[in-house]
Amino acid sequence: MGTRYAIGVDIGGTNLRVALVSEEGRIIDKIKMPSSGDVMASLREAVERLGREGVAGIGIGVAGLLDRGSMTVLKSPNLPSMSGKSFKELGFTLPMVVENDANAAALGERWMGAGREYRNFVLMTLGTGIGGGIIHRGELLGVAAEVGHMSISADGEKCPCGNYGCLENYASARAIIEAAVKALEKGANSMLRECCMGNYYKISPEDIYRAAFEGDGLARDVLKEAGRYLGIGIANMINMMSPEAVILTGGLIGAWDIYIKEAIREASRRAFAGLVEGVKILPSALGGEDAGILGAAALILHEEKVSV
Ligand SMILES: [Zn+2]
Repeated sequence: MGTRYAIGVDIGGTNLRVALVSEEGRIIDKIKMPSSGDVMASLREAVERLGREGVAGIGIGVAGLLDRGSMTVLKSPNLPSMSGKSFKELGFTLPMVVENDANAAALGERWMGAGREYRNFVLMTLGTGIGGGIIHRGELLGVAAEVGHMSISADGEKCPCGNYGCLENYASARAIIEAAVKALEKGANSMLRECCMGNYYKISPEDIYRAAFEGDGLARDVLKEAGRYLGIGIANMINMMSPEAVILTGGLIGAWDIYIKEAIREASRRAFAGLVEGVKILPSALGGEDAGILGAAALILHEEKVSV
């Protein structure tokens, strides 16, 4: 019998990634493009290009709330063009499975990454928004795990999800940029003022880390404040799930020494001592690039049981 493959798809707010993955977890070939265009057309084309003999099916991880049975994206705040779309429209004859993108990333980490040694962990994706996936007793827990939308402030800012005071309004890349811009508008003294040829409305999270690592007070304060809120979110997850590990992924872990360190301090202060002591808080081994496509492929290759 020849090698079995799956096509793993990761549709995020910024990029669409489609890969041919072998049953050993090797990425044989990968196509990456922006998810801003016609996602369905790009996906169909990529699957046709990567298809070959031995492909057992297509696993799809997509940002948003899903109806798994009808393979429909119910709501996707960071990918509005996909809301209401069903992957059944693609008309593929191969078996297909859909899952939330952060859940797929958790499965990818469990299979080939930082989660290999843990049977119980929470993955948090720290980017424009904050997503989550939960591995329980070695299996993906089939719940929404929208950790970025846990309410942490009674009267907070409005979130793209429609609610007020969600974690991602305080701890995500979007929140960090908004906090920096607000302080600059009020006249705060910072090297960020010189960024982007003086147009500080264009600053990126990377500009903020760079300034923070160079000792800029505003950049450091903004990252530490976001880290403190992230720590509240992590403490909530630890108290609820008592995981062995919390695995963090996404662009923001580039600022580990300031933002994540602050989060770890805050989580240690807030979570039950008996629960937080043994918990490892560690970075993803696969990064945002491959965790989602590997996890999506695992849904097919392992006929992955999702515990519901
Ligand atoms: Zn929200």
